[in-house]
Amino acid sequence: EKTSYKWRRVLLKVSGEALAGDHSQNIDPKVTMAIAREVASVTRLGIEVAIVVGGGNIFRGSSRAGCSGLDRSSADYIGMLATVMNAIFLQATMESIGIPTRVQTAFRMSEVAEPYIRRRAVRHLEKGRVVIFAAGTGNPFFTTDTAAALRCAEINAEVVLKATNVDGVYDDDPRHNPNAQLHDTLTYHEVTSKDLSVMDMTAITLCQENNIPVVVFNLTKSGNIAKAIKGERVGTLIGG
Ligand code: UDP
Repeated sequence: EKTSYKWRRVLLKVSGEALAGDHSQNIDPKVTMAIAREVASVTRLGIEVAIVVGGGNIFRGSSRAGCSGLDRSSADYIGMLATVMNAIFLQATMESIGIPTRVQTAFRMSEVAEPYIRRRAVRHLEKGRVVIFAAGTGNPFFTTDTAAALRCAEINAEVVLKATNVDGVYDDDPRHNPNAQLHDTLTYHEVTSKDLSVMDMTAITLCQENNIPVVVFNLTKSGNIAKAIKGERVGTLIGG
C-alpha cells in the first residue's frame, strides 16, 4: 500500500566510495547486491526509485586535473564516464535478481544506455522500473551530488537519499574525534553556514531552492537503504 509510506518517489544517490566497499577493486559486488536487494524490497511496495551513481571510486576529475596537462573539463569527462561503468554494473546486478532497470546517460552513448529523457524516465518509474542516471549532469565542473539534486527536482521525486559510509552528519569528523555528535536534523542554512561537508554548495543550494529534503545515511548497515527509502528515521535529515 503506497499511501502508508512517507515517500512515493525517491532519488537515491550512491557515491563511488560507497560502491567500493572494502573491495580491493573499484566496485564491491557485495555492495551492489545489497543495494539491489534492498531496492527490490521497496519497489515491491510500490515506491518508485531513481538512482544517481557517483564515480569517485574510479576517477575524480577535480583531483586529477592538472597532472600531465590534463585540463579540468577533460578530467571531468573521464569522471563522468566512470559513473557510467558503475551504473552498468549496478544495473546488471539489479537485473540478475529480477528488478527491471534502465540506465539513462546525460550524454549520448546509445549503444550502451538510453539517453536521458525526462518524460521517459518518469514513465519507467511509473511502470515500476528502477532508473539509474549516469554521467552526472553531463557538464564538467559539476558533481554527481548536483546531478542527484537536479534529477530529483526534474522528475518530481520527494527526497534525495544520500547513501554514504558514515551514519550521517556529525558536528566534527568522527574518524578523528571520538566525541563527535551525530545531528538528527539540520537546516539548509546550518549546513551552508557551518560549512558541514554534506554535499557541495551547488548541490545543497539546489535542494534548498526547490525544498527538497536530504537524508544522509550509512549504506553499510544492513537494512538502512530500505529504511531510508520507506521514510523511516535513519541518519541525518536536512530540510526547512
Ligand atoms: N562529474 C562531472 N559532472 C557532473 C558529475 C560528475 O564532471 O555533473 C565528474 C567529476 O569529475 C567527478 C566525477 O565525475 O569528480 C565523479 O563524480 P563524483 O565525484 O560526484 O562522484 P562521487 O563523489 O559520488 O563518487
